[in-house]
Amino acid sequence: MKMDGHAGADGNGQGMKRVSILGATGTIGQNTCELISLNPDRFKVVALTANSNAAKLADLAVAFKAEYAALADARLEGELRRLLEGTGIACGAGPAALIEAAQRPADLIMAAIVGAAGLAPTLAGLRQGTTVALANKECLVCAGTLFMSEVARHGATLLPVDSEHSAVFQSLDAPGSKHVERIVLTASGGPFRTWTREEIAAARPEDALKHPNWSMGQKITIDSATLMNKGLELIEAFHLFNVRSDQLSAIIHPQSIVHALVYYCDGSVIAQASLPDMRTPIAYSLAWPERLNAPLKRLDLAAAGSLTFEEPDESRFPALRLAKEVLKAGGAAPTILNAANEVAVEAFLNRSISFPRIAAAVEETLSQALSGLAGVLPESLDQVMYIDGRARQIASAVLGAPGRAGAAPASPLPAGL
Ligand code: NAD
Ligand code: MG
Repeated sequence: MKMDGHAGADGNGQGMKRVSILGATGTIGQNTCELISLNPDRFKVVALTANSNAAKLADLAVAFKAEYAALADARLEGELRRLLEGTGIACGAGPAALIEAAQRPADLIMAAIVGAAGLAPTLAGLRQGTTVALANKECLVCAGTLFMSEVARHGATLLPVDSEHSAVFQSLDAPGSKHVERIVLTASGGPFRTWTREEIAAARPEDALKHPNWSMGQKITIDSATLMNKGLELIEAFHLFNVRSDQLSAIIHPQSIVHALVYYCDGSVIAQASLPDMRTPIAYSLAWPERLNAPLKRLDLAAAGSLTFEEPDESRFPALRLAKEVLKAGGAAPTILNAANEVAVEAFLNRSISFPRIAAAVEETLSQALSGLAGVLPESLDQVMYIDGRARQIASAVLGAPGRAGAAPASPLPAGL
């Protein structure tokens, strides 16, 4: 990971940092907007994107005097244009508009779209060679090798926004330090940490959406309940910090106060602590290499009382085991895992499948898809999208609902495979 600051912004109060937010209407996007609005002299909003909420996107674009607003849903272009008429804010809708938003010259791009849908715009943004604050962990899960090689090729700077990865980043003595023995990410354990297998089998979406510590978008909240989120984060850390998979592990820490620990070769362990509030790692990435004054509640360790840690139970939470296996396997496996998980989570949220079917469907999809995709590696965007599309089709078939639950048709097999 490149650590030097981007030339366009000074971050020390002189000049404005030009910021674009991909996924501005989501939880991370809204927290980013809040921090920017608290620091109007430090940040200038360039481009904002959303999936389909034209009204919310237009309101944000007007409030922040953005230069450009883009919706993913091409059918809503007319509505967005009407909403922004007379404001002087340019806009568009559809995949090309998201790319245009990402390509607008910016000093920092907050990549906060959820899922593999964020990959193409985030890649387009980092190809500016600018700083990308990466919340969208699925980018690194479905295309980690490609993503990191593009970061290097374009001289971009990648700043992790995920709280655990921000914690690791802050705890590293140097990027790519040779002295790191291992990295431990903490996990809250989610709402079902103390539930029995039988109780988990009957869990409903409303139970899974009640996260004990964090307030997040629906997909990551379900991922936190299955512990798939921690598995995705191990894969994310593998690519971000250039360590071996056997140097990475996860530990349950129900209080979510310590976010990650870096173990050094001399026995020292550096950990980062803060209250579970995403505005802290977002503020860090927005201001880096400076820090932002964030008017947030401060950690009071005496009030917290005790901090506890326990091993994750991979038999009640098999998604974590699956993600670890996929991390070791590499190749197309992480891309398939990510796509199958997106389909299965959506099916669970639609009440089409039970909670344990999420991990089971991912496992079945992996075994079916891996044989058919032997030799197809996620080395270009076309290849990633091909594997992703095939895995979505297989996952939908596995779930007994072909063509439903977020399945996108697989793009034609790219030439040269
Ligand atoms: P969210 O669901 O609240 O917001 C997602 C954003 O992406 C919205 O702006 C939405 O309009 C947009 N979007 C959704 N589907 C899209 C599509 N197909 N094309 C284009 N845009 C689309 O999600 P979130 O909780 O803000 O999470 C965003 C990302 O950050 C995820 O990858 C998540 O794993 C990661 N993350 C979130 C948190 C958190 O606390 N929320 C913490 C760590 C990491
Ligand atoms: Mg996290």
